[in-house]
This record gives sequence, C-alpha cells and structure tokens, in this order.
Amino acid sequence: MAFVDLETTGGTARTDRIIEVAIVVVDDDGEHVWQSLVNPGQRIPQAITALTGIDDAMVADAPTFADLAGEIASRLQGHIFVAHNARFDFGFLKNEFGRLGADFRATVLCTVRLSRRLFPHYARHGLDALIERHRLQVSDRHRALGDAQAIAQFWRLLPRHVDPPVLREAFDALTAVSSLPASLDADLPARLPTGPGVYLFFGENDLPIYIGKAVNLRQRVLNHFSSDHSSQKEMRLSQEVRRVEWRECAGELGALLEEARLVKAMAPVHNRLLRRQEKSFAWRLDDDLFGGRLTLVDLSEPMRAELGPGGPIYYGPYQTRRDAQAAARTLADRDGLCLAHLGLEKVSPGRPCFSHQVRRCRGACVGLESAAAHHARVDETFATHRLKPWPFAGAAVIEEGAGLHVIHHWDFLGSAGTLDECLALLEGRAVRFDRDVYRLLNAAGGAWLAKARPLVGDGAALAVNSAAPPAGRAASGVGSDAVSDVASGVDCGVDHGVDTNAGKIAAIPVRATAAVAPAAAVTGGTRLADSVAGRHETSAFADTEMPAA
Ligand SMILES: [Zn+2]
Repeated sequence: MAFVDLETTGGTARTDRIIEVAIVVVDDDGEHVWQSLVNPGQRIPQAITALTGIDDAMVADAPTFADLAGEIASRLQGHIFVAHNARFDFGFLKNEFGRLGADFRATVLCTVRLSRRLFPHYARHGLDALIERHRLQVSDRHRALGDAQAIAQFWRLLPRHVDPPVLREAFDALTAVSSLPASLDADLPARLPTGPGVYLFFGENDLPIYIGKAVNLRQRVLNHFSSDHSSQKEMRLSQEVRRVEWRECAGELGALLEEARLVKAMAPVHNRLLRRQEKSFAWRLDDDLFGGRLTLVDLSEPMRAELGPGGPIYYGPYQTRRDAQAAARTLADRDGLCLAHLGLEKVSPGRPCFSHQVRRCRGACVGLESAAAHHARVDETFATHRLKPWPFAGAAVIEEGAGLHVIHHWDFLGSAGTLDECLALLEGRAVRFDRDVYRLLNAAGGAWLAKARPLVGDGAALAVNSAAPPAGRAASGVGSDAVSDVASGVDCGVDHGVDTNAGKIAAIPVRATAAVAPAAAVTGGTRLADSVAGRHETSAFADTEMPAA
C-alpha cells in the first residue's frame, strides 16, 4: 500500500499545482518513506503558505513535477493508492501526469470513507478528527509527509479496533468504488438500479444541482465519478454532490420525458443545455384581405385546441419572440415576400414596405403581386417551418415496457401503469405546448409518435379534451373489442398478442380513424421530421453529458 499526501497551491486540480509530495510505501520489507518539494511554476498563495509553511523561496530550486514523475510513478507502481479524501490527491496526480501526456491509474482507497464506514457513529472524519480520536502521532501536520504518516498509522492500528473480516469487507467495498466522492454513501453503487431512469444530484440544499437520464442508472451515475477529472464540470459536480436520488422509468422514452420535465421544473445549475425557458412561440398563418398574414402566438399559454387536427397552420416553434421574428424576416427576404402583408411591418395601405424599397419584396404592397399569389408563396416559403399539428383530438398514450406515458397536445403529463392512473393524470391539468416533447416525439422520423394511441375514456373523466370523438367512430367500451384494427388498416403500434400486457392494452380504447391516425397527421413531410431530428441530436436529448463551458 502507498499512503500519499500532497500539498498544492489550491483546490482545483486543473489549474492549481503540487508543491509537495510524500509517499509512504508499506510492504513486506517494511516502510519506505519518500518526500520532495515540487516547484509548481506558479506563485504559492499566502493562505497556503500560512497553512503549510511552504513559500515561494522554498520551492524555487526544487524539482518540477516533470522531473519527479518517473520517481513517483515507480514508487506507486503496484500499490493501492491510499489517501485521506483520496479523490483530491488522486485527481491532482492524474492531472499532473496528464500534462506530461501520461495516463495515471491506480486502485484507490480513501481513508475518509474507510473511517466513515468502520466508525459510523462519529460525525467527523477529517484528518484532525482521526488524529484526536485515535491518538495518532504526527510530527508535521499540514506537511505532506506528516499527513501521509498519520494515515499510515491510522491503517496500522485498525486491526486493534476492527475484526479482520469486517476490515476486509470494508477494504474490498471501498477499493471497488474508489472513485465515488467521499460525501456519498459507500453503498450507493449497490442501491442504484440497473434499469432506465432519471437521476438527481443534490448539493448542500434541497434543489438538485444536476439532473440526467440513463438507460442504466448505476452505470451512468458511477460514470460521472469514474472520470479522471479531465472535465472540469465533472470534477466540480463530484465535489459538490452530497446526495443522489433517482426515479426509475419504464424505458428510454420515459427517462427522456421525465428528465426534460424535471429540468424545466427544477432548473439545476449544471444543466445549462437543457435549462430551456418554458416559453415557446409560433407564427399562425391567418387568411385575410392581404393574403397570408402571420400572427405571433405564445404557445406556452394553456392548451390551445387549435393545435389539433383541422386547426390553423403554425410555423415554429421558436424559443423567443426575437427568434420567431428573425426567422420570419430571413425567410421573407429570401423569397421576396412582403413584410407589410405578412404583418411584420406597419405601412399605410398602398405604400411600399421597407423591403420593397430595397427591392426585396416583390411588391404585393403596391399591387405588383396579387393577394392570392402572395398567400400561396407564404405557405411555400414557410413549409419547412410548419409546426406539426397534434394528431389527436385529446390526450394520447405511448406504451413503453410496463409504463404508459401520457401526452396531451405536445405536453407530457406523466407516466402511469394503468389506464385509471393515466386518466387521473388528465384531471385538472392545464395543457401547454412543450417544445422538448414536440422535438422528442418527432425525432427520428417520428418513431415515438407513431407508437402513440389516443387515450379516450368516458367524457367526464376527460374534461380537458377539446373535441368529442366523431360519433360511431369511437370505440367507447372497455374490453378487448375496444382494440380493433379498423378498416383503415392503421397499425397502432400495439402488440396485441402479448399476454402480460393484454389486460392493460385492452383497457385503452383505441379510436383508429384515418383522421386521427398518427401516420395521417404528418403534414410537415420528411424534411421537417429530418430537421427536427437533426436539432434533436445536438440539443436537449443528446446523451446526457455535462454541458461544455
Ligand atoms: Zn412589400
């Protein structure tokens, strides 16, 4: 075993440097002590000098880390790396070796975690607490060798207090999860499920600092801590995390939906990429005397029935009014549309719009183009921006594994296990357009949307539904007859043959008319689907990594 302690210019492995290193190797031959000051190549802050007694003059002629790297590597080679709050020392060495192009690895044992595991009835496990509690003899506290020898002593006296099997078990468990931040419970890996879900990292207070989704929760969460501190964000997260919570989900879609919902609701500080504003805007194409006027609407207002089938045409969504306006002007300018006719510019009737004066507008404002021709061109120009209508009259459900995800007019209401629970999710809920849900369901050619089926229950329970199902077309009963393929031949994406799901599936009446079938509702064509999928890759639902600085 190699007991290691470092003194450094500060607490950040990426930017601070090592000023002293001590390694106490304990093996069959006894104890081998080695230490050296290190020239950090930067000033030592006064606070560090006050704490350690090491100042700039002392390290001026000391070797650099590059000079010592070979010596350090050979001394640590083949030993368990033991340190007090080992992530700190290990992280610094990892970074110093990394600057030299070398990859430093070791099996790590943290004595903070070891103390906490063996003596859980004590609150404090800092080095001072250990020194006091176990009466360790320390020659030089806050110097690298003094501290390294203190933890070596701590290790040596453990067999006096702890049964060998207990010590062995603690050792095995801690070296197995050596990279876990010391602030987290050692049994976290064992408790984490291996299925899909959403995880929340909490710092000192009650709001999460980071929320992520995973196909395998255990793997993903531990992956955050197994990194080599090469990402500053990951390192900060490891330092700040105090508690991890998770919610299991039925599958990948459920995890994605839940992640987006929680991030919006809780706005964790480290989720910058996903921390969208809740607002969404779209242009509504209105038909008027001038032929094709655009009206900016706030989609985040509570449910708009006109987002459904047969409603007006919308273009969007855009995150801000400014984005919407910029997109519209760019397209209008490109194709010579009239800003006055579009309603983007106020001009007295018969007067040329600004765009016409600079010869972009083809002149609908001054009679050079008919209103009808202009209108036709508006829809053509904006076609790729067309917002897909919500393909159902009311809420829909997407089955995934054992879960049912309830979506209503591009709003995720929650996941449930039974039809009754799905219906309960609808009660009293104001429905708002959610850009993340819209993108997610339309991504990859609308693969998820294709699995959605209308959730139609008795009218009373579905007060939110804006439109009643057409008479005679709805399967209103509950039972196996309710699931039918209907003459239209629409594939509802349900495997009726699976026994374990049969009861649940049968309980969801399906109204599969051509008018509401997802396949028939794809109005934007593949170009929109592709562009949505493209954005999807690079934005909200890219695999959950820490956002770049
Ligand atoms: Zn004009």
